[in-house]
Amino acid sequence: MLELHTLTIHQAGDLLRRREITSSELTEAALKRIQEVEGRLRALVTVTPELARHQAQEADQRIKSGEATPLTGIPAIIKDNICTQGITTTCSSRMLQNFIPPYDATVVEKLKGAGMVMVGKSNLDEFAMGSSTENSAFFVTANPWDQDRVPGGSSGGSAAAVAAGEAMYALGSDTGGSIRQPAGFCSIVGLKPTYGRVSRYGLVAFASSLDQIGPLTRDVTDCALVLQTIAGHDPRDSTSVPQPVPDYSQALVPDLHGLRIGIPQEYYPGEMEPQVSSVLKGAIAKLEELGAEVQWDVSLPHTRYALAAYYIIAPSEASANLARYDGVKYGYSYQEAENMWQAMEKTRQYGFGAEVKRRIMLGTYALSAGYYDAYYLKAQKVRTLIKRDFDQAWERVHALVVPTSPTPPFKIGEKVEEPLQMYLSDIFTIPVNIAGIPGIAVPAGFVKGLPVGMQILGRPFDEATLFRIAYAYQEATEWHQTLPELRDSAL
Ligand code: GLN
Repeated sequence: MLELHTLTIHQAGDLLRRREITSSELTEAALKRIQEVEGRLRALVTVTPELARHQAQEADQRIKSGEATPLTGIPAIIKDNICTQGITTTCSSRMLQNFIPPYDATVVEKLKGAGMVMVGKSNLDEFAMGSSTENSAFFVTANPWDQDRVPGGSSGGSAAAVAAGEAMYALGSDTGGSIRQPAGFCSIVGLKPTYGRVSRYGLVAFASSLDQIGPLTRDVTDCALVLQTIAGHDPRDSTSVPQPVPDYSQALVPDLHGLRIGIPQEYYPGEMEPQVSSVLKGAIAKLEELGAEVQWDVSLPHTRYALAAYYIIAPSEASANLARYDGVKYGYSYQEAENMWQAMEKTRQYGFGAEVKRRIMLGTYALSAGYYDAYYLKAQKVRTLIKRDFDQAWERVHALVVPTSPTPPFKIGEKVEEPLQMYLSDIFTIPVNIAGIPGIAVPAGFVKGLPVGMQILGRPFDEATLFRIAYAYQEATEWHQTLPELRDSAL
């Protein structure tokens, strides 16, 4: 029997356009799958069956009239820090537990315009600060490959949901790895577009110079389809870039001749788990077989400062962005206070979780008089050096291939008490945000039944080359076709 929830966007789209299935059937299959697995996965903060059914009916009409786009009638999930009109957008925080946005984010508007069926909103680390979803104020999401392990974060709900078939694609946000790391941990495809490629209007801001929205999908073709729909200039986000969006389907060719791929030595440290490096070595050999010329002597010497710079820049911006949650305009508001100051203090004390408070304190400190030059300004200088490393690499190669994370998914609870250990799990994703370049994570194999991801990094606004490499690799491998059995501990 055809299991509708296991289809990719393009497979389901073909069936829809040939009228072999309807969007309503597809949507019922997704809602049924959610009912079956959600008790164990806990990937969703909100399920929206009524909205989904309504949108599915509209999509079916649209398909009948011959006006379907590739995304028309396809079930989707939106990370719960992306505003959806009339539907709570919590950021998995007590602060916004009851916040109902009066408008849609631009990406949501675009997806609705393309005929999206939204089945729910996904769990995340509070305000997208974390790498495991354990910082969600509500609950922890489980990894579909092993439910004792984390799905990654902060878009862990989106990644787990797509891997488990609760929807065909999801949107996430990526400030330091939050799309790519969970995609790698759940063996799906995740793209952080170039900074400015996709509008951030309606994305609840964490660190505005790093945040970017992107797709999480089951294969590369789907990823290209979603980016095609959400990319482009938006007058409501002045950092979105007025550059034409190429036709990404042109990039999906299974041949890498003429491409030079660099392997930066700093991303393969001696102390990395040997099984992860051997998965990556195998993947690189495959890329060579497909025609790519691999250069092993590429160096990005300032990589070692990226994590330190990120943990100054991101908290600094967060401390400013989160100043708005004072209980006055929207969100949680402490009502029993004796005066205004106490009201604000208590609102923030009860509304924010520990990690968010840690970031606000770090950021406020780094920006404070007397420390600004020593920390923030210095971190910005380091940022320039990191960006320059990549610019120099682009003179020699078209793309870089690195691991998505240094380890396979870790156990729930393993790193919560040690923030620095948690921060280290983004060591290979953070430099990409710092430089503003695009990066895609694709499934590259398994270590003892646990997913390992490969990351392909590219020149600014050259997502097409990332799709080309990712697609060729995917067509030559089977990792993306292996689906999780939703089992308990593997080890
Ligand atoms: N894990 C990183 C952090 O906690 C990145 C999060 C993200 O990309 N949103 O800041």
